[in-house]
Amino acid sequence: MKAAQVIIDVPLMQTDHPFTYLIPDNLQGLIQAGMRVHVPFGQGNRLVQGIVVELSETNDDENLKEIREVLDLEPVLNKEQLELADHMRKTVFSYKITCLKAMLPNLLNSNYDKIVMPLDQETKDTFFAGKENLKFSTLTEDEQATILKLKKEDKVSFEYEAKSRENKKYETFIQVDDIEKLKDFEIPTRAKKKQEFKEFLLEKPGKKQVKEVRKNFSKSIIDFFVENGIVKLEHVELRRAQEHFDKIKADKPLVLNKGQEKAYQAVINGTSDKPFLLEGITGSGKTEVYLQIIAHTLNEGKTAIMLVPEISLTPQITNRFIARFGDQVAILHSRLSDGEKYDEWRKIESGQAKVVVGARSAIFAPLENIGTIIIDEEHESSYKQDSNPRYHARDIALFRADWHKAKLIMGSATPSLESRARAERGVYEFLELKERANPLARVPKVDIIDFGKNMNEKSANFTLQLLEKIQEKLDKNEQIVLMLNRRGYSSFIMCRDCGYVEECPNCDISLTLHMDTKTLDCHYCGFQEAIPSRCPNCQSKKFRYYGSGTQKIEEELNNLFPQARILRMDVDTTKKKGAHEQILDKFGNHEADILLGTQMIAKGLDFPNVTLVGVINADTALNLPDFRSSERTFQLLTQVAGRAGRANKEGEVIIQTFNPEHYAIKLAEHHDYEAFYKQEMQYRRTLAYPPYFYTVQIVVSHKNEEEAIKKSYEIMSLLASKVTDKAKILGPTAKPIARTHNMYHYQILIKYRFEEELQIALNQVLEMTQDKNNKGLRIIIDSEPQNF
Ligand code: ADP
Ligand code: ZN
Ligand code: ZN
Repeated sequence: MKAAQVIIDVPLMQTDHPFTYLIPDNLQGLIQAGMRVHVPFGQGNRLVQGIVVELSETNDDENLKEIREVLDLEPVLNKEQLELADHMRKTVFSYKITCLKAMLPNLLNSNYDKIVMPLDQETKDTFFAGKENLKFSTLTEDEQATILKLKKEDKVSFEYEAKSRENKKYETFIQVDDIEKLKDFEIPTRAKKKQEFKEFLLEKPGKKQVKEVRKNFSKSIIDFFVENGIVKLEHVELRRAQEHFDKIKADKPLVLNKGQEKAYQAVINGTSDKPFLLEGITGSGKTEVYLQIIAHTLNEGKTAIMLVPEISLTPQITNRFIARFGDQVAILHSRLSDGEKYDEWRKIESGQAKVVVGARSAIFAPLENIGTIIIDEEHESSYKQDSNPRYHARDIALFRADWHKAKLIMGSATPSLESRARAERGVYEFLELKERANPLARVPKVDIIDFGKNMNEKSANFTLQLLEKIQEKLDKNEQIVLMLNRRGYSSFIMCRDCGYVEECPNCDISLTLHMDTKTLDCHYCGFQEAIPSRCPNCQSKKFRYYGSGTQKIEEELNNLFPQARILRMDVDTTKKKGAHEQILDKFGNHEADILLGTQMIAKGLDFPNVTLVGVINADTALNLPDFRSSERTFQLLTQVAGRAGRANKEGEVIIQTFNPEHYAIKLAEHHDYEAFYKQEMQYRRTLAYPPYFYTVQIVVSHKNEEEAIKKSYEIMSLLASKVTDKAKILGPTAKPIARTHNMYHYQILIKYRFEEELQIALNQVLEMTQDKNNKGLRIIIDSEPQNF
């Protein structure tokens, strides 16, 4: 008997291997590996979605269930992706179905609508009079119960309608099919409107939108001409995210400078199959090198993936790719709707798109024949997904580059220590760009201002030095970028009398003030409440803002520089679709003098008129309990400094800090990555952190704190018994934010070199949540965690 191995969409340990299902006669020959199917599962034979990973034969037709229906006409996952899922499963500690689903657009993963289908006329008349396509999910509970009863009696069945099918958008075009026939087409003179339409067509026989034509002519007139074979209609599938492509002017490759040429040649003529690490200072022309490598790849008839961090996936970057490669580009980012993402995915899958530009998950783009994969700003922590499956885009890129024999290039001005160390050991091939590409642009001058020694009456957030510089640039009509490092620095409300701070009832964290909605919000669980007018603790009226969010700074800037036009860019002002683009457009057109924002503004922006970058607070990242905090600070300061002086005008950078002697800050002042790398490596070696050791973090959570602690110790001793003495197990300790969503979190950190035993033990730990005695226990295993 023909059978299929199906991974079902029920993420549990016991379902993490394929189940065998029989292929019924009517589906034989249709079903292939990589297709989605509906199969009955469990005792109730509930229908669930699954993915066929392999076809097989079986003799055991007694005990096996049949596949109920197939959802695809062609596989949605190819052989490479199915193997990639196996590879991921071994390294990311989440279920295989989660790995498979990560490769598909949401629309294909979301459950299908059940449409109720009456099977006989009587049922139809009794229960469905006047109703068509009844969706099960929209019925009341009583109605659903009735339907289920009817289903038991075999009076109705369910049909599953893919949301994706509904979600596809078409546009209809009309065009004259036979111009001679049109000329000869006789229309009675009293049919005025038809006459008019004929004249219109003679004037404009080419392709036009029916939508437009319909403004002047009715449907029946158009139909009349269609029926007579004069015009034809064409339905074209629309890509929803692509409307602005036509507006972007095409551009040509620049002549590469010596350094760029060398890097370019090394990649395209290189014979080794090692990945490349391209270390190039900000503005050194890395992007231009990427563009030309991709052009070369396309010329060879191959395809390319270009990854950029979500936060820098701005129109400035994407437009450069569209300008160079036009319609061959597909763009994937998180601000697209599910429908838009699906459209882009189809464009890639069908082979129409040859270059995919996108954030982390674009690494899964279903391209065939990949010639080049580029990861820009490779040090960015957003390349690691911090929900299941917890993969790093770099690891997926390594797998895919290997599979396709493609070139893999990782670029950064401040490479991660892991990558830089690999380059040093010769695992990666090292390429460098040491100068700014625009010969007139110089690396900006950086000034560190000791905040502690420069407190002043005028402002709590700005030193006089920074205020003076801002005024100077405003006077010269030049532009200014100001960055506030938001992490751990958002505004909260504190009572000036008793010191009370309002905290989230579900999480151990203070609530954040949002002036626009006049609420206090929890950034972890979404809890929200109105701003109390008095202190809930002592009833004092002196219950005021404290700390400095971007809103607060904006207010202050407005007071200090009433004549300046200020734009603010943070999570609040960029919530709406397109808002991000609008703000940057405005700033680019010099409709504002100051761009104030969070980390969001540090990356990738290229505005020639910006001559001053101010960092309001360099320290916040330094104070985090994370071994990468110095690295993050150095990277952020270097990136943001790189926004100044990108064209002919000289750029200046002012960094305000309470830690002017800290090496991450001092070395950022001198743009000295090499020195930073050396110093930081020593620290990592001493403390046995990456890149000298690998790390795995285990987070154990439970509503009951004692239970969370007890289980943490259980896991710790299980692991301790499995690993050699080369591995170090730290913890369990409470997480820095010990409670969120009413759950208590404890963590264990393991540092190790290579331990096969550890992998096995960690999978056992993952299994613990399936144990009936461990109800309510949640375990997250995060290999190479990026945030602590
Ligand atoms: P990076 O990606 O390293 O920050 P970009 O590729 O954005 O650098 O280049 C910085 C600026 O220099 C851009 O304005 C770009 O147009 C310009 N540029 C890049 N390469 C060249 C070149 N070969 N000749 C002239 N200008 C260049
Ligand atoms: Zn109080
Ligand atoms: Zn909360």
